Amino acid sequence: MKVVRNINNMQTLSRDWRGAGEKIALVPTMGYLHEGHLQLVRQAAEQASKVIVSIFVNPTQFAPEEDYGDYPRDFSRDEELCRREGVDVIFYPSAEAMYPDGFSTWVIEDKLSNTLCGNSRPTHFCGVTTVVCKLLNAVLPDIAVFGQKDAQQALIIKRMVRDLNFPVEIILAPIVRDADGLAVSSRNVYLSDQQRRRALSLSRGLREALKAFDDGERDASVLTKTVRCELKKAGANIDYVELVDCDNLQPLENVDRPSLLAAAACFDGIRLIDNCLLEP
Ligand code: AMP
Repeated sequence: MKVVRNINNMQTLSRDWRGAGEKIALVPTMGYLHEGHLQLVRQAAEQASKVIVSIFVNPTQFAPEEDYGDYPRDFSRDEELCRREGVDVIFYPSAEAMYPDGFSTWVIEDKLSNTLCGNSRPTHFCGVTTVVCKLLNAVLPDIAVFGQKDAQQALIIKRMVRDLNFPVEIILAPIVRDADGLAVSSRNVYLSDQQRRRALSLSRGLREALKAFDDGERDASVLTKTVRCELKKAGANIDYVELVDCDNLQPLENVDRPSLLAAAACFDGIRLIDNCLLEP
């Protein structure tokens, strides 16, 4: 397994591989890898002959008051996990290489980014689209794999790729959860045992709403209230609980088409997101 830090070297290697007929998959991550990331890697390996994992904690998707400085990092552990999964390359650029002095070009998706997480994190998705654009240009993959855990992000990336004609196929992988139901996330390390017990209200609320849906409930206000109730009981600071159209993220009154029930909540300042798909 190679670790490539230089953007030009990454492009050269990818061009050589493409020339030799290899199919390249990119799995973009911010590192501190967990089972959710590894599932993306396995999905990538099923569909491509070369798997490249990028590890880059992207400063431009964090607002000044957010946790960029504290975001968990452990490159040697990530390297070991990637090696065990048979990853071909870790692309590990520095922030200085990605954002050189005078950097002034941004990619803005101007519709899907303004809902859900975009309301409380108004600059976040511009950072995401910009860095994913740069990663796609550095790695030149045939496919890129993203997680359904960040459903809004995945939809925005798909829109960007379509709108700007990136020659890449975006693949989605399902949410990986711990045995207790909590969606795995690098940020879960911030949670104390007590906070983690409270954070379980997020997946529990979604699970209960999904059960109500399976029992025939279609009313968005009832389904979102089910999640809100669980979060409130756990003393969460609710950012949003919304039922939206899967394709355009517009709010729905009823589940009359494939829908996303999405929620974000803070537990003592630790912000977690989760979602589930409802398919009538
Ligand atoms: P991150 O390192 O948090 O930026 O995540 C990198 C990629 O892993 C994104 O496409 C995420 O959606 C995906 N991911 C993170 N957590 C999970 C999870 N629990 N299940 C599936 N995919 C995940």
